[in-house]
Amino acid sequence: MKKLGIYIHIPFCVRKCFYCDFLSAPSDEETRERYVKSLCREIKQEARAYEQYQVDTIFFGGGTPSLLTAEQIQRIMDTVRGNYSLQSGKEEPEITMEVNPGTVTFEKLCGYKKAGINRLSIGLQSVRDEELKALGRIHTFEEFKDTWNFARKAGFSNINVDLMSALPGQSVENWRESLEKAAALGPEHISAYSLIVEEGTLFFDWYEEKTVTDEAHPPLPDEDKEREMYKLTEEFLKQYGYHRYEISNYAKEGKECRHNRRYWQRENYAGFGLGAASMVENVRWSNTRNLQQYLEANRKEDRQVLSEKEQMEEFMFLGLRLTKGVSTQNFYRQFGKEIESVYGQVLTELMEEKLLLKTEEAEETRYFLSPYGTDVSNYCMAQFLLD
Ligand code: SF4
Repeated sequence: MKKLGIYIHIPFCVRKCFYCDFLSAPSDEETRERYVKSLCREIKQEARAYEQYQVDTIFFGGGTPSLLTAEQIQRIMDTVRGNYSLQSGKEEPEITMEVNPGTVTFEKLCGYKKAGINRLSIGLQSVRDEELKALGRIHTFEEFKDTWNFARKAGFSNINVDLMSALPGQSVENWRESLEKAAALGPEHISAYSLIVEEGTLFFDWYEEKTVTDEAHPPLPDEDKEREMYKLTEEFLKQYGYHRYEISNYAKEGKECRHNRRYWQRENYAGFGLGAASMVENVRWSNTRNLQQYLEANRKEDRQVLSEKEQMEEFMFLGLRLTKGVSTQNFYRQFGKEIESVYGQVLTELMEEKLLLKTEEAEETRYFLSPYGTDVSNYCMAQFLLD
């Protein structure tokens, strides 16, 4: 059977963080319940299209999925189990849920575990309360620690902690402190993204449109400092037994996120819920981003069949995010062409510029970004756009 990942979007948050452009908003209990009903309906209705597939990863993302009760998560999981074939046998499916500190109790986490969740991704971002406040997060570091302890006590043995660097007023030392305190807890996985100021957020108004003075909001670190933080992250986490396997993701041996890896390797996934994106057999589509429409089961999907050119571009710039890069054999299997016949010139140029490296091992030849190439990854990826 072919493999499938399922993404389930929960678009609710206690309140909006200042930097966030994800599809999420505050909600009341009644809306959340209506949403869960619509979601279960959608999951059930779509099941026929996936009769030939076996689900090996599920990811509850948001928003804040942990705003849902354990009973609601159980109901969604029952709907998935009742209508899809889940991987069974030696390796169980990876079922992740994003959790925000301050939204869960020990009992609630036990309920999620019982529903089948076997991996948590906890949004910490920083261990310094003044940085959390500057981001508009709803929790303190102490509250994160409570959530962490509850999670371990509830039996979760596969946990990711999200951290964010390049925060307002953050020094390299402050960032080291976040890395150190997070790593000392020993999560199986750490995601460490740099803050990006996105349009449509309060941060954009403050930092790009300059609607406030610097005294009101500490300045963002400059590019050099940002780069220093990035370098420190890999060196530092290595000492704690984490290896970088993607530009911003670090894991202990064998604990890479299987669901996210499927995005970078362009494997099939079906998205359910508001605004959720899917990609199955090279067709992409997304649900409506309008909550009212979604609740009325008017999901209005926009289907886009990817051309071979688009598939090749994606193959390169998603695959090169991974530390191990892209395999020439895989490229041939997918497109029936040698990678060099399509990208020969770009590959040679990037290797001459020392941005790209090549390894040949046994049956496999791979191209991957050098440390310098990783530093300027956006530039490298852009070279793979085809005319
Ligand atoms: S908790 Fe996450 S999804 Fe919700 S507003 Fe904050 S950053 Fe956005």
